[in-house]
Amino acid sequence: MYDWLIVGAGFAGSVLAERIASQRDETVLIIDRRPHIAGNAYDRYDDAGVLMHQYGPHIFHTNSDAIIDYLSKFTEWRPYEHRVVGQIDDKRVPIPINRTTLNALYGANLKTDEDAQRFLEARAEPVEKVETSEDVVVSKVGRELYEKFFRGYTRKQWGLDPSKLDSSVTARVPTRTNEDDRYFTDAHQMMPKHGYTRMFEKMLDHPNINIMLRTDYRDVRDVIPHRHLIFTGPIDEFFDFRFGKLPYRSLRFEHETHEAEQFQETGTVNYPMSEAYTRISEYKHITGQKHHATTVTYEYPTAEGDPYYPIPRPENQALYKRYQALARSTPNVRFVGRLATYRYYNMDQVVGQALAEFQRIEKSMAKTPAK
Ligand code: FAD
Ligand code: UDP
Repeated sequence: MYDWLIVGAGFAGSVLAERIASQRDETVLIIDRRPHIAGNAYDRYDDAGVLMHQYGPHIFHTNSDAIIDYLSKFTEWRPYEHRVVGQIDDKRVPIPINRTTLNALYGANLKTDEDAQRFLEARAEPVEKVETSEDVVVSKVGRELYEKFFRGYTRKQWGLDPSKLDSSVTARVPTRTNEDDRYFTDAHQMMPKHGYTRMFEKMLDHPNINIMLRTDYRDVRDVIPHRHLIFTGPIDEFFDFRFGKLPYRSLRFEHETHEAEQFQETGTVNYPMSEAYTRISEYKHITGQKHHATTVTYEYPTAEGDPYYPIPRPENQALYKRYQALARSTPNVRFVGRLATYRYYNMDQVVGQALAEFQRIEKSMAKTPAK
């Protein structure tokens, strides 16, 4: 009899397994249907010996000291600030749009933040109420830049026009009037020094934790006795799609290794205006590895496949709410993570969510203290 069965060995499941095992001294069986731990953050050395990310580039960034302190128990870090350029017309320019982008695209000579601000304001089309992913961009930079940078990319990535998606999706990418060309501006931006998988191995290395891979919850739910359950897979699947399928967007990853020191000038190149893929990422920029070969990943968005992205739009949120209500009335099960709470969360947000869930567990079990 395990105290806890945890489904999914990604950030959500692994953080909770670690906390429960080490702080409550209770036994945990963590299962995953994939043949590895670390969920979508899984990285590995490929046949050429290059450290690569199996499920596309994962760059760690957060403003939370507490999350860094927590993860630092399991890894050292390598400072890394991600930079992205976009192939726009025949030029490669910084994304997010900044002053350098505007000067390069328009042959302008914008010298100050105020110059760039005025340039954008002259193009911006005010929108009364910003609701969609189209509104949020057009109201800031106008239609031309929207078309070049956002419309095509978003249609490829989501299979939907930006006007059909919540504003939160494209609002992830800011517009800048300075020359800051970093993709993120968080206080902490760094990569686990020896990779994500090594970090997860340390997290799960505890005598109270057992790991079973290649194991689907459906196949074992009735045969592995457990007192409590934490589920980090898709919430609609847990309830056998009772209210219908929650839409998720998927990707097909094409990994390529080249016998060359470097393939492209920066970690990621976006293709908003052309190609069937959205972006190409080259891992050596991100990991800092020195190697004679280099590995890159092309991301081709697809409707079918592993569920990678919840699709933020009102009707999907409404369907999720029905599953959430069902989840709340299901005793002894906790739903945590990007798929189980249907939220477009970054890694740090999932760690934060899992740590908060642990606090709730501690509180609710105060009457039944740890062994
Ligand atoms: P997951 O990592 O998806 O883990 C869930 C696990 O549960 C999976 O391993 C799955 O196999 C398992 N599972 C599901 N159902 C079952 C079942 N029935 N039985 C057994 N096992 C099951 N975040 C960032 O912060 N920075 C980035 O740069 C970044 N880049 C990303 C790029 C891509 C292409 C994608 C898709 C995501 C990216 N993310 C990034 C987001 C990040 O991947 C997630 O926030 C994080 O991995 C979510 O962790 P999780 O534990 O909730 O889910
Ligand atoms: N986006 C875009 N053009 C870009 C980059 C992003 O239109 O060059 C939009 C697109 O809808 C994308 C969203 O902004 O899905 C969020 O981008 P982000 O890079 O955060 O996506 P993720 O890394 O989560 O796939």
